[in-house]
Amino acid sequence: MRVKRRAISEACGALFNTSARTRKSPLSMEILIGNNMVTYDTFTGADQKVRTIADIRKDFPILSRQVHGKPLVYLDSAASSQKPQAVLDTMSTYYQTYHANVHRGVYALSEEATAAMEKARIKVARFINAHKGKQIIFTRNTTESINLVAYSWGGANIHAGDLIVLTIMEHHSNLIPWQLLAQRTGARLEFIPITEDGFLRLDAYEQLLQQQPKLVAFTHMSNVLGTINPAKQMIAQAHAAGATVLVDGAQSVPHLPIDVQELDVDFLCFSGHKMLGPTGIGVLYGKRELLEAMPPFLGGSIMIRKVGLRESTWNDLPEKFEPGTASIAESIGLGAAVDYLSALGMENVLRHEQAITDYALQQLQSVPELTIYGPRSADKRGGVISFTLGDIHPHDLASILDQELGVAIRAGHHCAQPLMEHFDLAATARASFYVYTLPEEIDVLVQGLHKALEIFSL
Ligand code: PLP
Repeated sequence: MRVKRRAISEACGALFNTSARTRKSPLSMEILIGNNMVTYDTFTGADQKVRTIADIRKDFPILSRQVHGKPLVYLDSAASSQKPQAVLDTMSTYYQTYHANVHRGVYALSEEATAAMEKARIKVARFINAHKGKQIIFTRNTTESINLVAYSWGGANIHAGDLIVLTIMEHHSNLIPWQLLAQRTGARLEFIPITEDGFLRLDAYEQLLQQQPKLVAFTHMSNVLGTINPAKQMIAQAHAAGATVLVDGAQSVPHLPIDVQELDVDFLCFSGHKMLGPTGIGVLYGKRELLEAMPPFLGGSIMIRKVGLRESTWNDLPEKFEPGTASIAESIGLGAAVDYLSALGMENVLRHEQAITDYALQQLQSVPELTIYGPRSADKRGGVISFTLGDIHPHDLASILDQELGVAIRAGHHCAQPLMEHFDLAATARASFYVYTLPEEIDVLVQGLHKALEIFSL
């Protein structure tokens, strides 16, 4: 299939409406991908501005830097995204003008900092359509959020012999906490297998549900294969079997529109740093009745209501799960990241990434000896492509791309060793995309892969 790159470039460039111009009604643009005419709509962003990717890139100072004398091509957003100036400014303003500890002081700075952090909580709640701000627990990252649930909810609800259903495509962060829980309690772990092209075997899932698991925990989007799992359907099936469901949203919340009420998910975990926000801030969303019934995870500081020498009582949500001084700047920064994404509109973010992924999947076909893992079609996956190139070690490949062309990709097991084992691999290379990724950057990646083949054939 032949792709008209320029057309795609224009389409991607026009997917977000921004800059000086504003438009009242959406436009349509038709692009030829192979023999198929695909229509990408251009539209007015949620902030009513007409936006292009080139404009968006100007918001990310790091994207204008050079690496080894070449313009940076950042294709590792699944590991951590870059940050727009608005996030950096918001955090810097906090430190420069109203830094103080939160929920403690009765003076202006502390009250301002508390108000800003709580406003950020509300923004996050709205972003995923949570019913109440108090259902948003700030943690350090997805990993901590999952550990919180495994320790607190798991400790209270999982007993010897109980079944926990996971998948073989989990990140270690959604595997090890359950292994630890199973070791503590004597619970059993079972795993949903996958098909050759990286989809969950839903027939096997249905069979596992017949064993009435207590918990089902799965990733919404695989950080290796890019597969977007049918979360709504899987949650409904799990509930019908009597199970509680935790969804690892580390890769989905930054890239797809998420509505926790529509999904009816019990727990959703995600990280700020993968969604244009800072490191050191993560989120646990939970259904209120579950969170209220759960015992604390970590103790101390403001998670209490009353403390005696021998026993204590606990604060309300969310403080019950937020002991110690909060990541104040980080939570406020996450609020700014959510504002930025909301202004773009998450439907638009998804559409852009699908267009870029589509383009990448097709351009990569020109590279001999390349094996791509995961779904073949961009509409069934997110903007993550894992691959191997002949027998070149992925680490060598990543080094060549970095040094020769300034391309940053990830190489390794991606914290998914069981999945690597399934494919009989030690590692893959992985390119991942976000709101600022251009088709031209995919071209540089493809050029780099050809170059690597040349170097290794010498
Ligand atoms: N789950 C998935 C699917 C991920 O991709 C990652 C990170 O790459 C995590 C969990 C862990 O995220 P964090 O390191 O922010 O805790």
